[in-house]
Amino acid sequence: MHFTRLRLNGFKSFVDPTELVIREGLTGVVGPNGCGKSNLLEALRWVMGENRPTAMRGSGMEDVVFAGTKSRGARAFAEVALSLDNSDRLAPAGFNDTDALEVTRRITRDAGSAYKVNGKDVRARDVQMLFADASTGAHSPALVRQGQISELINAKPKARRRVLEEAAGISGLYQRRHEAELR
Ligand code: ATP
Ligand code: MG
Repeated sequence: MHFTRLRLNGFKSFVDPTELVIREGLTGVVGPNGCGKSNLLEALRWVMGENRPTAMRGSGMEDVVFAGTKSRGARAFAEVALSLDNSDRLAPAGFNDTDALEVTRRITRDAGSAYKVNGKDVRARDVQMLFADASTGAHSPALVRQGQISELINAKPKARRRVLEEAAGISGLYQRRHEAELR
């Protein structure tokens, strides 16, 4: 499975619909300070189910919605869609009957988040599980925030272990065990 496209609409500084094509290999995003490079990475994290406002540099989840500027009004919702190539059919069961997947998350002020996969309503947990099993996801060590390297160097051993577990791809198993214990 790999990412092929990221679409943003009303997400943080991306007030107008924006599309980023992600080809195989290396994709670089360059631009001046404050142009939205980190916001792009946060959009990727967010559509995969990130629910900690602090991870999005906000104080509440609705802070991801375009807040308005002097010349443009605030938006009522934000939407991010992530397209995936699943021609290797490595998506987890339940998501594995098509070659292409599109995961969408939309947040509406006062109404919270709604997720879809290929247009069908799904739960946040389904999306988090999809990516946890693919050893990517909102907490993936493949997504390195600004300042994260120095945090890791200063982290407690337990926190550092969680990063290694993510990298080894076993955190999906932990999530499944946790779910099984709740039943
Ligand atoms: P740097 O090179 O300094 O790391 P960057 O390209 O990573 O910069 P970002 O941090 O992604 O830039 O973008 C910050 C910009 O996004 C700021 O101008 C900020 O005002 C804007 N921004 C963040 N959240 C919102 C929001 N909810 N509504 C409107 N604009 C927002
Ligand atoms: Mg940045």
